[in-house]
This record gives sequence, structure tokens and C-alpha cells, in this order.
Amino acid sequence: MRLAVFSTRPTDKQFLSLENKNHNFEIQYFESKLRLQTASLAKGFDGVCAFVNDELNAEVLAELKEMGVKIIALRCAGFNQVDLKAASELNIPVVRVPAYSPYAVAEHTLALLLCLNRRLHRAYNRVREGNFSLEGLLGFDLHDKTVGVVGTGKIGLIVVQILKGFGCKILCYDPYPSQDLETHYCTLEELIQQSDIISLHCPLTPQSHHMINEDSITLMKQGAILVNTSRGALVDARAVIHGLKSGKIGGLAIDVYEEEGDLFFEDLSNHVIQDDIFARLTTFPNVLITGHQAFFTDRALSNIAQTTLQNFSDFQQGKELVNQVSQS
Ligand code: NAD
Repeated sequence: MRLAVFSTRPTDKQFLSLENKNHNFEIQYFESKLRLQTASLAKGFDGVCAFVNDELNAEVLAELKEMGVKIIALRCAGFNQVDLKAASELNIPVVRVPAYSPYAVAEHTLALLLCLNRRLHRAYNRVREGNFSLEGLLGFDLHDKTVGVVGTGKIGLIVVQILKGFGCKILCYDPYPSQDLETHYCTLEELIQQSDIISLHCPLTPQSHHMINEDSITLMKQGAILVNTSRGALVDARAVIHGLKSGKIGGLAIDVYEEEGDLFFEDLSNHVIQDDIFARLTTFPNVLITGHQAFFTDRALSNIAQTTLQNFSDFQQGKELVNQVSQS
């Protein structure tokens, strides 16, 4: 099988090439993101491997079909970037990596929360400049604080376990509560009203789009902390900026951003950032942003490479595609 890998970064190549020693696929790596303009690169390839910010809308999928592509493997868990109806109509199966290391994302969530709360991002810079003042670095104990976990799937469950170790009180919201969790489920509204910290761990769907908006921010406790390592569009960034300016939101830690497709995974340090909302977010002392790196651990990348190439291999051998995603 000939495979075209889009949005390739050096680490993708490193881990996929290593894993490919077990498969011997003919792999071509493209740095370009998958877009209508770049889809023709897939001409003559049997499979396409895409990532979170690649575009797989109806037009791109039709073009890939035209190019002879027979299967699309996402090397990520989320699949909100794919028009699944169009893929199904074109008879192109879409597979993904449902779980590669939920620990990687859960641990990064805690890293963000601890860094933001204890102002480590500011302390790091101060100490390097010989400034040992503690002014503005006041944090709070996580112990006894109420944390609202939205979405108790693989990642959310681990976040709950870790937070229990910190002695936090946990509130959860999930339309499909987990049987594995001895914790208190409540409505989303109650969770937002009662939590000191809110952490989002649900997929982006039409129902969850902008679940944090002007109305939900009004319900929050004064000074609540919001953490989002799931998908940017769960949060209305404009509304969050208002909340930060008024002090209603006491801190924001995000690894994802609604319009991240034009920013993340690129070195834009020599460019002027055109996204004014994102640029405004970076000016707050109580906002911490990482560029979609929560998944980025060696174990996760190795698992992603393994499952992705296994998905292609199952397709090649006509086996059942256990990681296929379809419209619900
Ligand atoms: P999962 O499928 O195991 O769990 C998701 C949970 O969310 C499920 O229990 C589901 O019932 C629940 N849910 C669905 N709709 C909801 C809603 N409207 N409100 C509340 N809960 C809802 O997924 P996971 O592996 O735990 O991943 C969670 C999310 O994390 C993914 O959807 C993805 O967007 C994100 N993610 C981010 C990174 C990163 O690098 N930042 C990496 C992997 C995953």
C-alpha cells in the first residue's frame, strides 16, 4: 500500500518510520496540511493519514476519491474535522486512534492547572531576571477545592483520579455517566455554578459547541478557573475575554483554540499574528496557552504510530476495521 502522510512534523516521521519496519508500507511524508489545494498530492496513493487540523470536508474528500484514495486514517482521537456523511457516500472508510495515552492529556491538564494557579509561567521568567518578588504570584490550595469535570470518558476519568489525590471535591457532567466512577454527577448548569475549577474533557459536537459562552460564564463562581485541553470550539473565546476582563473568570489554561488551524504546529515567531482574539488572550497575566501539545509524549506518539499503521494493515488484509468512525 502507498500511504500519503499530511501535516508531517519530524516526530511524526520518526515514530511512523520506526513502526513501519513492522509493515513495510511505501510512505510519502508531506509537510503540507491537507486542504483542497493540497489534496492532489495524494494522487496515486491508496491511503491518506491526516491530523487534527487537516480539512476533510466534502470537497476535499471528493478530490481524494478522484485521486484514488481508498481509506483515511486519522492519527488522532477526535474526528470533528471530517465530514463523515460525505466520506460514507464516497465509500471511503475513516479510521482513527481512539486511545493512545489518555494519561498524556490528563497529566498535561494538571500541568496547566498547577502552572496557572501557582503562577509558574511568571515565576520562571522573574527568577531568570533576578526578580525574586512574590507580588502577583499568590495561588490557592487545590485541596478542598471543587473541580467540575465535563466529560468522563478515558481522559476525564484519569483527571478525576489525579484530582482525588490532591484532595479535591469532584463534580462531573456527562450525558452518559461512567459506571466506573464513584463520584457525584450533576447537570452542566450545577457543575458550572458550583465549581472553583472547570475542566473540559468532552468531544466537540453540535451539542457541545460553545458550551462555555456568555450565559454559562454568568453562572460561574467569581474567579473560577477554566481549563480546556479538548477542542477549542467548546469555548466561545470572545465571551471568555469578557469574563477575564471583568474578573468573573480568574484564570484560563488552554491547549486548544477554536481557530488554532492557522496557528498551531507552526513557527510564526517572525510573523504578525493576525487573529486579534488569540493575540488578546496572550496579553492576560492569568492566561496560559500551549499549542495542542497535551498528547505529545513519547508513549502517545508510539501508540499513535502503532494503531495508525495497524488500521491501514487491517484494511489491506480485508479485516474488520475496529477503529472505524461513522456518523452517529
Ligand atoms: P472519550 O470518548 O473517551 O470520552 C468523551 C466523553 O465525553 C464521553 O464519556 C462522552 O459521553 C462525553 N460527552 C459527549 N458529549 C458530551 C457533552 N456534550 N457534554 C459532556 N460530556 C460529553 O474521549 P477522551 O479520549 O476522553 O477524549 C476527550 C476529548 O479530548 C476528545 O474528544 C478530544 O477532543 C480531546 N483530546 C485532546 C487532545 C490534546 O492533545 N489536546 C488529545 C486527545 C484528545
